[in-house]
Amino acid sequence: MQKYLISLGFSLLIVGSALAKPLVIAHRGASGYLPEHTLEAVTLAFALGADFIEQDLVLTKDLVPVVLHDIHLDTVTNVAELYPNRKRDDGRYYALDFTLAELKTLRVHERRELNGQQVFASRFQGNADFKIATFAEELELIAQLNRQFKRNVGYYPEIKSPKWHRDQGVDISAIVLNILRDYQLDDAEKAIFVQCFDFAETKRLRSELGAKVKLIQLIGENDWLESGTDYNQLQTPAGLSELAEYVQGIGPWLPQIFDITTQQATGLVANAHQRGLAVHPYTFRLDALPEGITSEQMLRIVFEQLIIDGLFTDFTDTVVDYLGDKQTQKNPE
Ligand code: CA
Repeated sequence: MQKYLISLGFSLLIVGSALAKPLVIAHRGASGYLPEHTLEAVTLAFALGADFIEQDLVLTKDLVPVVLHDIHLDTVTNVAELYPNRKRDDGRYYALDFTLAELKTLRVHERRELNGQQVFASRFQGNADFKIATFAEELELIAQLNRQFKRNVGYYPEIKSPKWHRDQGVDISAIVLNILRDYQLDDAEKAIFVQCFDFAETKRLRSELGAKVKLIQLIGENDWLESGTDYNQLQTPAGLSELAEYVQGIGPWLPQIFDITTQQATGLVANAHQRGLAVHPYTFRLDALPEGITSEQMLRIVFEQLIIDGLFTDFTDTVVDYLGDKQTQKNPE
């Protein structure tokens, strides 16, 4: 009897996650259209119908969490032009070496390679005066838009490079968690997920720092050197079972859930669902689709074949439209 109840519990979980409408997560805001992580990109993602909007977080010299994809400034701002003497020995400029007031003088532009070439050539090509936003500014912007439009768009902050920050003498997780508590967002019932690539830090958030908020463990590849986490181990049944003790879901990248060559699921989504973990893969990009796959085919694979629970995308509107059409087909008027 007990066995039956346990298996019933599992299947309810699976059915529950399969029936819920998948979440559209605006990756760095509407980054397919406007420079990533700016207030403008957040506003557009909101208007395009995102369910959650992502904030990657790093600290300033005066310990304010700002929304930037990584610890460096040179690929998304004019820092080298304004502060040529503030680079480190490796030639890079770090957000942590600048106060918030200094960072606010920078102009944010579309992401470029270190050689100056735009990463996604067809994206925003203008030079408007976009600024770096603080985490608090993005929380308030989304909260105000929610109030006025009677929506409940959620937050999806990522704690970036926690070990690097600690090696520099600062504890980014504790600072971010304090802000969440100030905004009453350290709460499993609220529309917020906190994500991190570093599993040691995810565990620390839950255990040592007592985070109540829903947590998502990001999964990369070991050779990215993103953290000390062994991502191969995390994807094993034992790894997923350990994850389920700490987090509500995983954020793998698309090749980890679907083998494009064989057109087969890898099994990671099913194995995660069996343990009650949601799966929110990254990143659906219209301008970086796998060879030979259309946007429509890719979305059909992830939503209808693999049954994921949410998708990170640079192109919120494409995913919203796809899911809306599917809904209309299910319930014709
Ligand atoms: Ca991110």
